[in-house]
Amino acid sequence: DLKGKTALITGSTSGIGLGIAQTLAGRGANIILNGFGDVLAAQQSVTHHAGRIGYHGADLMKPQEITDLMTYAHSEFGGVDILVNNAGIQHVASVEDFAPERWDAVIALNLSAAFHTMHLAIPGMKQRGWGRIINIASTHGLVASAQKSAYVAAKHGIIGLTKSAALELAQTGVTCNAICPGWVKTPLVEKQIADRAQAGGISVAQATRDLLLEKQPSAEFVTPQQLGELALFLCSDAAVQVRGAAWAMDGGWTAQ
Ligand code: NAD
Repeated sequence: DLKGKTALITGSTSGIGLGIAQTLAGRGANIILNGFGDVLAAQQSVTHHAGRIGYHGADLMKPQEITDLMTYAHSEFGGVDILVNNAGIQHVASVEDFAPERWDAVIALNLSAAFHTMHLAIPGMKQRGWGRIINIASTHGLVASAQKSAYVAAKHGIIGLTKSAALELAQTGVTCNAICPGWVKTPLVEKQIADRAQAGGISVAQATRDLLLEKQPSAEFVTPQQLGELALFLCSDAAVQVRGAAWAMDGGWTAQ
């Protein structure tokens, strides 16, 4: 039961972040949504659950806007008890073709934003004696794929950040862990499927099968709801000794 706890989920207007927001809301947590796009639809899809729902549209590539987001969380909700660093983007190109500004953008959002939110959220969690930090990494935090250097570097980096913070917080009521999803069917992956279909001159259905079979032995997508349940477990009292873990939910991807 998460009644009275406030969860900030970054990048929660879509995909995995929205699934986690819905799951935590279902257990009564207050939810602070963040992200772009159809904010109203996202808000409506969580408001039928318990708890208060807030929204802040900070662009997490901008540290000043992260400060504004955390100030909002503090003044409207009294702080953040559960911090889910989820917002992320992908860019696919070889190192020699990778536009330097795309590199900077991927690192800023997929890695540095998590540092900035943690930097601002940890003092309040320590003061209240309870906190959960859940960083959404990826199988690409554990192993690499070609054409994804910035993403792979950022995801390996966020697992390192997770471990360091977990050690610093080891004797407090604040835990910090990473979740490493395999393929999840969200707009981030639908774009890669569409690009694949176009490049190979194949159907979207065939491109989807190829994408799964190449990496994910189960040949099925992980779902945002399943990831929400894992996040919920990490928020539970039973998970208090899970610290600094990089927990895969990947259909067997990293078992190979
Ligand atoms: P998505 O594109 O569906 O959602 C991304 C969210 O981030 C959206 O809410 C978007 O509005 C928000 N966002 C984008 N740029 C932002 C910015 N500058 N500031 C604030 N919010 C911003 O993607 P998703 O697939 O749900 O990915 C969520 C996380 O899960 C990412 O960190 C991604 O790397 C990770 N992940 C995804 C998969 C997958 O297969 N989809 C696998 C492993 C890890």
